[in-house]
Amino acid sequence: MCGPASGLVFDLVSKSAFSFKCQACSACCYNKAIRVAPYEALRLSRSIGLTTTEFYRQCTEPGRTTLRNKPDGSCLFLTAGGCGVYFNRPLVCRLFPLGQIIGPGGKEKYGRWPLHPDCLGLLGEEETVESYLHSQGTQLYFRFDGLYAGLQKQIFRAGSRTGTQMKGNGQGDRKPSPPAKEDRFFHWMDIDATVESYCRRRGIRKPGGLEILAALYLEAIRAWLAALPPAKNGRRWEPRKTGNARP
Ligand code: SF4
Ligand code: SF4
Repeated sequence: MCGPASGLVFDLVSKSAFSFKCQACSACCYNKAIRVAPYEALRLSRSIGLTTTEFYRQCTEPGRTTLRNKPDGSCLFLTAGGCGVYFNRPLVCRLFPLGQIIGPGGKEKYGRWPLHPDCLGLLGEEETVESYLHSQGTQLYFRFDGLYAGLQKQIFRAGSRTGTQMKGNGQGDRKPSPPAKEDRFFHWMDIDATVESYCRRRGIRKPGGLEILAALYLEAIRAWLAALPPAKNGRRWEPRKTGNARP
């Protein structure tokens, strides 16, 4: 369900004919390296009664955003009855067997992953890519990803410039980046920790709703970027509008 998109031909667009009926056999829920974005971590964490801070400690590889697998290679959330977090499953599980890339100008293209040899799913052309994605509840995930992707690039650029990273507590503390590139801004990915700190400093109550939490998280990142000291050329660090945002 996830991994490099090499070999995948992105020859579909949202209006292309496509249908897929998954038979929930779970054959594809083994030996995957599923990386979750902050919004996915938020949804998953709540579905199992955790904060995102606890979620990263318990459900992802240490210091990473990749979901842990059980010793037999199965996904941590796979149960005898199938996916144990189905209504909050990650985006890649919702898209499968489709893969998506965003081309220049924000144009979306789709490709078909090869199916697992034991997959019982039924591929067809009775619907469209768009209606398939809609049926999988991808809209909120795409929306967050679109808004977050641009900010994430700015966080990386800011970190490269300052050689530091913001802690997820959002209090302006800085510490040297950990060695692994993937982990450099890991702390910033923790929505609960970031929003908690952001609200505390503003004397406001941390909201409970997931969508409001996600929105405040993005607001906290923008505030941090805006407060960065000027670069060497004297220009302030201006958060830029993200180009990928989808309605
Ligand atoms: S989250 Fe659910 S659908 Fe996705 S790999 Fe894990 S068990 Fe399978
Ligand atoms: S292997 Fe195919 S049918 Fe089975 S759960 Fe995965 S997508 Fe669905």
